[in-house]
Amino acid sequence: MGRAEAGGQVQPDARPGRRHTQREARLYGQADCSQCRAPRSGACLIEWTADRIDAGDPNQQTEGAVAKYLATESGNKAAEDAIQALGGYGYTKEYMVEKIKRDVRITTIYEGTSEIMEWTISRDRWQLHLKSKGAYYNDWAAKLETLARTNNSSGAATAALAMRAIAVLLERARIDRLTRNQHILFRLGELIAFAETAAVFADRAINEPSDAMPFSAETQQVMSRIHARDAALKVAADGLRWTVGAGQSDPNLADSLNLPAIYAAQAGLLEDMDFVGKKLVEAFPTE
Ligand SMILES: Cc1cc2nc3c(=O)[nH]c(=O)nc-3n(C[C@H](O)[C@H](O)[C@H](O)COP(=O)(O)OP(=O)(O)OC[C@H]3O[C@@H](n4cnc5c(N)ncnc54)[C@H](O)[C@@H]3O)c2cc1C
Repeated sequence: MGRAEAGGQVQPDARPGRRHTQREARLYGQADCSQCRAPRSGACLIEWTADRIDAGDPNQQTEGAVAKYLATESGNKAAEDAIQALGGYGYTKEYMVEKIKRDVRITTIYEGTSEIMEWTISRDRWQLHLKSKGAYYNDWAAKLETLARTNNSSGAATAALAMRAIAVLLERARIDRLTRNQHILFRLGELIAFAETAAVFADRAINEPSDAMPFSAETQQVMSRIHARDAALKVAADGLRWTVGAGQSDPNLADSLNLPAIYAAQAGLLEDMDFVGKKLVEAFPTE
């Protein structure tokens, strides 16, 4: 995660007249999903999983897979975006992000490839969905809705939408036996990772904000809101795509996923990105 979050730091552009453009790229690029909130949500999952192990429950294989998967994938994307924000300079060896990108890329391969993480997550949560008769994610959503009623500043209500959408998708996959296709299992693993990180981040940004990075609880809550919006939209839209693509049979599936509420929850996104962009510039000054 150190590399992942370092990928969010870009270096000053030495070319005359370029500072403003580069600064804007930082503001908007870094505030975008890959460069701040997804690495932070991956870090949040790592902290959450470590806390659970320290509390005496060593069986955190699925949680570890979610943390490893999202941290490495989003770190990789953050490094990629940092190169893009610097243009041609980002591609050169003189700029650190080129090396960060090479270093972080291997993390999606070794110690369990991303595909194997997706499979692990999907297999384990599929079992929980079956054993709980579909209650696993709905129960988690209910907890988030309770949190949202007292404090919704971290986007807990939106994370709950992601949780409820995952529950609907898993049930639809069960009824229509969609996981016979391995790709559906993998895609569900990806969507579950997004939904669970949104849920954990929304909770911890309020109840246990991290002190591992120089961001206030308020900033972490705004990051969490951005991630929750992205996770809910990804779960519902991609989930609809893959289940329809695999031949699901419910003509009202889109309604069950509550897409209108998920789109409505995107309100305030750019304002939040502006806020986080400014906080990133403050936290990582260029000079
Ligand atoms: C720099 C570096 C350091 C390493 N250090 C260590 C180390 O210290 N200890 C150690 O034990 N190993 C180490 N490895 C090996 C590393 O763990 C493996 O490269 C990794 O597990 C992937 O295995 P593979 O290379 O055989 O790829 P493969 O297993 O051939 O996978 C190739 C691609 O196919 C995908 N794939 C594989 N199986 C499936 C499947 N069933 N369904 C769908 N997709 C699938 C993979 O996700 C991957 O994208 C290191 C590798 C590198 C490059």
